[in-house]
Amino acid sequence: MTSTHPSISVIAPIYNEEGNIDLLYERIVRVMEASGESWELILVNDGSRDKSPEMMDALAAKDPRIRVIHFARNFGHQTAVTAGIDYATGDATVLIDADLQDPPELIHEMIERWRAGYQVVYAVREQRAGESWFKLFSAKLFYRVLYRITDVNIPVDTGDFRLMDRSVVRVLQQMREHNRFIRGMTSWAGFKQTGVLYKREARHSGETKYPLRKMIRFAMDAITSFSYFPLQIMLYVAVVLGFLALLAIPVVAILRLSLGNDFFGGQATTIIVVLLMSAFQFFFMFFLGQYVARIYDETRDRPLYVVARAENFADDPNRPSPLHAGVPVRNIAPTNETGDRA
Ligand code: UDP
Ligand code: MG
Repeated sequence: MTSTHPSISVIAPIYNEEGNIDLLYERIVRVMEASGESWELILVNDGSRDKSPEMMDALAAKDPRIRVIHFARNFGHQTAVTAGIDYATGDATVLIDADLQDPPELIHEMIERWRAGYQVVYAVREQRAGESWFKLFSAKLFYRVLYRITDVNIPVDTGDFRLMDRSVVRVLQQMREHNRFIRGMTSWAGFKQTGVLYKREARHSGETKYPLRKMIRFAMDAITSFSYFPLQIMLYVAVVLGFLALLAIPVVAILRLSLGNDFFGGQATTIIVVLLMSAFQFFFMFFLGQYVARIYDETRDRPLYVVARAENFADDPNRPSPLHAGVPVRNIAPTNETGDRA
């Protein structure tokens, strides 16, 4: 049996967004109806503890284009987006934040570029409103450092807000790594990619779900997923320190012979050097540990997420069953030429 798949799947991850869901729905409906495309909106409830789950179910009950996935607990933003991608059947898929920082109206321009032949259209933040100077500064620095140390060209000042053609979505569906940096994974996939500029709005309601701790984790996922640089700089540090040591031996010998035995004799110097060296070593051990922990995550090979319940998927027999969610897509019937799952 074949089913008609929508031309655009829009995915929004939801973690305690009760103040945003209704307006998000309204704005997306307005934008998508104006676009003239057939569409669906997949809302992924990432273990919300406010009224979001009920609000999502209410939308699904009144509008069959709204599909809802409820996770069994909070699995994190990137994982919620991943579930949406796994379930999406559109010719193109749009990722958008639920807090309306990403204006849905930009989707028009994205669709235009996609129709013009680009497989990925990502939104580049030209300006950001309503965010702390620390977030602005750290984000700017982060994207630039990342750009320098990775082999994959991940565009700067770009979040997950983007449109991806089905060909790219299929690649992402095959990438089952556990610590995910989706914007990098999209770049990795290749194809023709382009950016559209936009002004990132302030959050409509509520607070950021990314405290500093999560931001650092996210940055580490990005770096370890796409770069060996932290491992490689150890060699440079070793070379520089070794060179200093070689230089120090004759210099100290000569100074002592000419100026007497007290020269460089202090304990303080020794203590400082030992502390400095331990700091260096622990710093690199931390990085090494980051890679090792991620190897461990991969070897356990747990499902990426657990779905407790899903709404409005029943009309489409070709979608993965909610019970199988999180299981690698290779275990799900492959799609045929027209994109319907066989
Ligand atoms: N989010 C999520 N799970 C989380 C954290 C965030 O699904 O554990 C969602 C959140 O509801 C929002 C999007 O991810 O739709 C982006 O989060 P947020 O706006 O807090 O991040 P920021 O824009 O501050 O970087
Ligand atoms: Mg936000």
